[in-house]
Amino acid sequence: MSVNKLNLRYVINASGRMTKLGVSTLSDEVVSAMKHGGQHYFEMEQLHAEAGKVVAQYLHTEAAFLTNCASAAIIQSVASLITKDSQEAVHRLHDADLELNREVLIMTGHAIDYGAPIKTMIHLGGGMVKEVGNENGCTLADIEKAITDKTVAMVYVQSHYCQQNNMPKLAEVYSLLQHKEIPLIVDAAAETGFYDHRKQADLYIISGSKALKGPTSGILAGKKEFIQYVRNHQVGIGRAMKIGKEAIFGLLKAMEQYPNNERSADEQLELLQPITVLNQIEGVTVSILKDEAKRNIHRARITIGENEAKSAQDVVNLLKNGPEAIYTRDYGIAQGYFDIDPRSLQIQDIQTIVERIQHIMEG
Ligand SMILES: *Cc1c(COP(=O)(O)O)cnc(C)c1O
Repeated sequence: MSVNKLNLRYVINASGRMTKLGVSTLSDEVVSAMKHGGQHYFEMEQLHAEAGKVVAQYLHTEAAFLTNCASAAIIQSVASLITKDSQEAVHRLHDADLELNREVLIMTGHAIDYGAPIKTMIHLGGGMVKEVGNENGCTLADIEKAITDKTVAMVYVQSHYCQQNNMPKLAEVYSLLQHKEIPLIVDAAAETGFYDHRKQADLYIISGSKALKGPTSGILAGKKEFIQYVRNHQVGIGRAMKIGKEAIFGLLKAMEQYPNNERSADEQLELLQPITVLNQIEGVTVSILKDEAKRNIHRARITIGENEAKSAQDVVNLLKNGPEAIYTRDYGIAQGYFDIDPRSLQIQDIQTIVERIQHIMEG
């Protein structure tokens, strides 16, 4: 069957970087780099070593290792801190008969589901999850009390998805754990400020396909000793999580282009401008807002008046079920609004969205 015969609906993604919609747009340069990688052969160990050096230099860490996604990086970082330099433990990672310390701490507020539960990744890496604190928060003293001689690591999620109220800051947690000699894994998969947190982590994880806009891939960076433990797993669970040569080349190119592969604030505002024409429709209000987590993202917020024939929920449903599947950012739908995130859009997509909303509200 030819690829052209796949029965697909194309998506206009106005919801942001969504893994379930294909995450990000690869630039021509990234695709060319992937073509180069895909059409040549390498000694893969050397390619890994060289790519690791480039990434480590970029992130200013001692070492780095590439995986097929950020989830794989979480799994392998947990596994590596359980097995350290034991070859036998690598081969028998999930063997219950082998006595290994497996306790991995995570604050309850960080035990998120980003499309899959992070706790599942810790289990896959051979870890036993020990939650600290509760839904309402966590203190440093709670963490200190939870540490036992079976604790091998803690996972800290640095993400705008997490509630961070009543939770200790990354720097405080890192300093406590350093004092206790427990390594800290920081999952910053979806963050843009790569340099902000990586100094407060023993193993630091980012996605290659979210902010960086590379192909599906994950980056694990940190101390040389720990990265070596991760490499040991390439003859174990790492085999199921390996990155391809084409993705390594694509990721390095994306990294080289970042952050110049992002639109400036002015470019985003210009792109969103045509949406304001919807203000002319009775009951529709458009405003342009900056990201609530203060990232360099501007969005158009479309509010549908309470007394209109169609609610905001009706409008987003109709947008999804039109000739193209238009996905909007719907966190405010219960309050009567939805947002248009421009990161994955071109000008013709904006035109389509405007026409569709005009049609829904007036037609
Ligand atoms: C997206 C995300 C992940 C998973 O990344 P994948 O590359 O899809 O495996 C993990 N943690 C957080 C906080 C994320 O946002």
